[in-house]
Amino acid sequence: MAKILRINMADLTAKYEDVPEKYKYLGGRGLTSSIIYDEVDPTCHPLGPHNKVVFAPGILSGTNAPTSGRVSVGAKSPLTGTIKESNAGSAWPQRLARLGIKALIIEGQPKEPGKFWLIYINKDGVKFEPADEYVGKGLYEVYPKLFERFGKKVSIASIGVAGEYKMAMAGVCFEDREGRPSRYSGRGGLGAVLGSKGVKFIVVDDEGGPGVEIVNKELFEQGRKKLTEALRSHDVTKPKGGLNTYGTAILVNIINEAGGFPTRNFREGRFEGAAKISGEAIFENNKKRLGKELYNHACHPGCIIQCSNTYYDENGNEIVSCIEYETTWAVGANCGIDDLEAVAKLTWLCNDLGLDTIETGGTIAVAMEAGLLEFGDAEGAIRLLDEEIRKGTPLGRILGNGAAVTGKVFGVVRVPAVKGQNMPAYEPRAIKGIGVTYATSTMGADHTSGYTIAPEILGVGGKVDPFAIEKAELSRNFQVTTAFIDSTGHCLFIAFAILDIPSGFEGMVEECNGVLGTNWTTEDVTRIGMEILRKEREFNEKAGFTKADDRLPEFMKYEPLPPHNVVWDVPDEELDKVYAF
Ligand code: SF4
Repeated sequence: MAKILRINMADLTAKYEDVPEKYKYLGGRGLTSSIIYDEVDPTCHPLGPHNKVVFAPGILSGTNAPTSGRVSVGAKSPLTGTIKESNAGSAWPQRLARLGIKALIIEGQPKEPGKFWLIYINKDGVKFEPADEYVGKGLYEVYPKLFERFGKKVSIASIGVAGEYKMAMAGVCFEDREGRPSRYSGRGGLGAVLGSKGVKFIVVDDEGGPGVEIVNKELFEQGRKKLTEALRSHDVTKPKGGLNTYGTAILVNIINEAGGFPTRNFREGRFEGAAKISGEAIFENNKKRLGKELYNHACHPGCIIQCSNTYYDENGNEIVSCIEYETTWAVGANCGIDDLEAVAKLTWLCNDLGLDTIETGGTIAVAMEAGLLEFGDAEGAIRLLDEEIRKGTPLGRILGNGAAVTGKVFGVVRVPAVKGQNMPAYEPRAIKGIGVTYATSTMGADHTSGYTIAPEILGVGGKVDPFAIEKAELSRNFQVTTAFIDSTGHCLFIAFAILDIPSGFEGMVEECNGVLGTNWTTEDVTRIGMEILRKEREFNEKAGFTKADDRLPEFMKYEPLPPHNVVWDVPDEELDKVYAF
């Protein structure tokens, strides 16, 4: 029987608890948000002793369901003050699930401030070791040492120096299949919360673990086949399809063409240098440099979409993996930088320091807006990360707390944030539905909470006019379905296929029924998604958030965005309809 593992950093103790009935059918985001809702005081200080960090593999993580190695990390966010779930793909949750651990709760704080620990978990239990020798170092230096010490068959969750400094844009890092520190639960500063608990690493060794129980193997297998078939046949997710060839950065040219590619801190919606930092440019440069076409790889065992790229230099040496769409936009177009080599270097630095790339790019752009650097100054941007943030200088501490704090300190009005979190790579003035999601998401400005870009721009799951302002229902439907998918352990990118191919959607539900022994129908997806959102919303209300917080920044209402010269004109009443259920 799976257990909940509870670790208390105040006295370095660990105990295994039976899974309460109410959590039995939950996983991933459904479980992290339920535990935070039940156990964390919404008014607590995010970096204080009463916050908790919860790690939960998805319902299917650890099985051979395709593309299902996602881990949800949950806590009260120091960036937004809201509840937060941020997920990443890695073998780490697969190993945790195979050890029979349904959720890992980290609570309490060490008595000795500034002390960091390595937690080692295997089938025999939990061990704590001081992590002093690794503190202050870059993760690219540290990960190989840890794999040398613990062997290649472990997985590592960690924080970088940004988390040690408790910066609100610090993420939680997991390794990819090559052992690189490159897969992030990036958003919301969860690395800072882990840092506040003195946790530097969580090493998981699943050798000899009991594995994941599957109640109805036949049904699970039936669902797995249906979903696999859908993923292998959809143009976006199939082998050598859009994501496998160009990665998520395939979106650069598409969103730019739509005039919704935020440029130079959301001043414009189209970037003249977009093609140079696109997925196509990554693919073509690699082809030239390696003398062959290079298709992308999986971030965890069992992902059949395989969207993660690796970028190589002129001599064929690896610079970094992976340059995501959000990253090439954040440290590229949003900072006016069109140099792919600089984008790769900035991506590497974010991975090394333990930073969320979206918030980092957004913060540099606000710093540029404030006059600290010129837009387009790649060397200056590199210096801010490598000198100021790495060393934790006073300026580095300001920047490390994100775009909203940086904007406040330097008196910047054009700060594109909601609930303290910088907007991702889609301009809400030009694509209204995603703006409705940014405004109303329980997580602050977050595209993954309700990815209306699918029908508004990509024509996936229908076709909707991006400029139409009646988007409450569309955003709600996406937010609800996403809350469910984030609970399964599947990567959200399966949505491209299952929105267009109904048997794929059925397959996902059958896989869950197979593992849990439930009888969910596709309608239950809506019910379960809504229950998760209700809890998250209630947590935020108790933390002091109201409808007035579900709004976009004022400048978007009066600054027309080129090239379409549109302003944010979705009425507040439309925003308030999203959670009127
Ligand atoms: S589709 Fe991409 S991000 Fe999603 S699990 Fe696969 S490799 Fe990772």
